[in-house]
Amino acid sequence: MDVTTLSLKEIIRALESKEFSSEDLVSAYLSRIEKLDGDLYSVLEVSPSALEDARKIDKARSSGQELGSLAGVPIFLKDNMMVKGWGNTSASQVLEGHKSVYNATVVDRLKSAGAVLLGRTNMDEFAMGSSTESSHFGTTKNPWDKTRVPGGSSGGSAVAVSAGFAPVALGSDTGGSIRQPASLCGVVGLKPTYGRVSRYGLMAMASSLDQIGPFARTVEDVAFLMQTIEGKDQKDATSVELSETSISELIEPTVDGLTIGIPKEYFLEGMDADVKRLVMDAVAELEKGGAKVVEISMPHVQYALAVYYVLMPCEASSNLGRFDGLRYGYHSTGENLTETYSRSRGEGFGPEVKRRIMLGSYALSAGYYDAYYRKALKVRSLIKKDFDEVLKHVDAIVTPTSPSVAWKLGEKFGDPLTMYLSDIYTITANLATVPAMSLPCGFSQDLPVGLQLMGRPFDEHMLYRIGMYYQSVTEWHKQTPIV
Ligand code: GLN
Repeated sequence: MDVTTLSLKEIIRALESKEFSSEDLVSAYLSRIEKLDGDLYSVLEVSPSALEDARKIDKARSSGQELGSLAGVPIFLKDNMMVKGWGNTSASQVLEGHKSVYNATVVDRLKSAGAVLLGRTNMDEFAMGSSTESSHFGTTKNPWDKTRVPGGSSGGSAVAVSAGFAPVALGSDTGGSIRQPASLCGVVGLKPTYGRVSRYGLMAMASSLDQIGPFARTVEDVAFLMQTIEGKDQKDATSVELSETSISELIEPTVDGLTIGIPKEYFLEGMDADVKRLVMDAVAELEKGGAKVVEISMPHVQYALAVYYVLMPCEASSNLGRFDGLRYGYHSTGENLTETYSRSRGEGFGPEVKRRIMLGSYALSAGYYDAYYRKALKVRSLIKKDFDEVLKHVDAIVTPTSPSVAWKLGEKFGDPLTMYLSDIYTITANLATVPAMSLPCGFSQDLPVGLQLMGRPFDEHMLYRIGMYYQSVTEWHKQTPIV
């Protein structure tokens, strides 16, 4: 069976009509992973119970039991989502040997929908990075060109979908970690509106920015998966009660009559010429479908990177305080308690994580709090205002997802500032808490380019509509890498 290009929708249909069983499907993916992931290193660990879980669903199906919407569907999870009994690590040595003792809410929801959890995927350590090079366990490579990065921090999940190891995967996005690797690997990735998906059981990096979201080949699959994982959760006070969203009316999506905004501040220097051309081609495609395209201005987004790299380290430094080497994970004994803390943390965390803990602790310390943290919060609200203002007049904002295609392994790894700059187009959506999606819109030097759509808070539906329309008139999402 060639599972490489199957979409979630096709898989569900085939499972329902018993064209193949979930066990067939899971075995096909597992042997593909076995054969091809040695080089790519997108999977940290395959779930030992995957085949058994698939068989259980098959049995339930053949006995005529009522099944959930994802019955028998294989899915990968980024290594920062807790699955009871799994050794989740956030790709950090600090959590080596740790066993999760409860399920993240998304995991509970996937399980009750009948999904088969295939395993955990590689990521930048604690989701800090844009290339999946900072994982303690090894570097993930881009399936389109193995000498290049897959993007990050959810690089493993993006590669797993792109390389045909599963039809769907989950990632987390604090500043672009779903959308940027989706863009660099040629798949679709959605960062939902802050509050749409419960963060319970997601290892926290920056709690006011983090969101869990899906990767898939098609926008329709992303929308379908969202229906399972979204919604209010008593265990996450920031999650929001949602009215029923229906994607069934999107069968024949149109963009006729919509207004699309192109922010002039995003199209300045630093953007690759090919990326710009392909994004503008995609815009022209929407225009052909009847959308009105207008130039918009968002004057404060120029400060977004600076604001993000103050707020994110501040929140991360406090969230990572819990890794003390005593309660769980890596431990290194010192002469006294303080030395034990500092040895465990000093040896357990990698350089990028330590850099951010130091930056964050500094910016939060007495005397600097007002100068950095509070000021950054103020500018964050100005950025949010820019979004609120333009989204009164346009239905969606279109930009590139990443200023360039996938770069060479090692190229930016030693230079944090250059690495940070690769998030320039994605972090604004997290700061403004709006939904944002990346979808394939062409190739430059044989590498995928991503188009970013951003919309009104809780109006993911609009992004699905535009994205599904775009995928109905283009073929970019049907291209797969030769792994
Ligand atoms: N690359 C960004 C960072 O390093 C975003 C990470 C993320 O979204 N988790 O902070």
